[in-house]
Amino acid sequence: MEILRIPRITQDSCKRHLLRGRSLGFVPTMGALHDGHISLVKRAKMENDIVVVSIFLNPLQFGPAEDLDKYPRDIEEDIRKLREEEVDILFLPDKSLMYPQGFSTHIEVGGLSEKLCGKSRPGHFSGVATVVAKLFNIVSPTRAYFGQKDFQQTVIIKRMARDLNSDADIIVCPILREQDGLAMSSRNAYLDNEQRSAASALYRCLNKASDAVKSGIRSGEQIRTLMRDSLSAATLISGIDYASVYDTETLEEVSEIKKEALLAVAVRIGNTRLIDNILLIL
Ligand code: AMP
Repeated sequence: MEILRIPRITQDSCKRHLLRGRSLGFVPTMGALHDGHISLVKRAKMENDIVVVSIFLNPLQFGPAEDLDKYPRDIEEDIRKLREEEVDILFLPDKSLMYPQGFSTHIEVGGLSEKLCGKSRPGHFSGVATVVAKLFNIVSPTRAYFGQKDFQQTVIIKRMARDLNSDADIIVCPILREQDGLAMSSRNAYLDNEQRSAASALYRCLNKASDAVKSGIRSGEQIRTLMRDSLSAATLISGIDYASVYDTETLEEVSEIKKEALLAVAVRIGNTRLIDNILLIL
């Protein structure tokens, strides 16, 4: 595995592969890799000649009161895992090379970025869209792999790619879960034992709502109430950012569930913010 730190050199290396007719699969991450990340790498490996993974803790997508400084890091272990998967290129840029002095371009994906997580994380999706656009320009991926875990992110990246004429195929991969259903996340490392067992309430809430829809309830309002009641009854949840049912394209709350809908939750357990979702296809 080549480990490259300089954007220009990474760009040249990726271009050389593309010029030789090789397809390039790209998995952007912020490190502290778990099996969820690795599932994206495995999929990229299956579908492409060359696999590029980036690890970059992107300061632009963290708010001033958020966890950038204490975000889990274990670069040695990450490198070991990626070598095991036979990744071809690890792009590991330094902040100063991604955002040199004078950096002043920001990408806003209007209409979608303010909803769901955008409400409690202003500026977050602008930070995400900006870094992904930069990474796409550096790597020029044939296919780029994102997890459904961050559903809103996938909708925003797809829209950005379409609006900016990116030729990368955006591939959305299923959520990997722990045995009790908790979606894998680097942030789960923040939870103590009690909080960790309380965190299974998110998936239980989503399943209850999913079962209710499957049993014939189509009212968005009823499903919202059911989800909120389920989370309120759980222990250690200190706040609910949102718990509702959404249109999968516009991310608007739906009043009547039709063919396809997104059940999504964001809650706080102690100081840790956790998100999860289930895609309903009727
Ligand atoms: P992050 O390092 O948190 O930015 O995540 C990098 C990529 O991994 C994103 O596309 C995430 O959606 C994806 N990802 C994170 N957790 C999971 C999971 N449990 N299952 C599948 N993909 C995930």
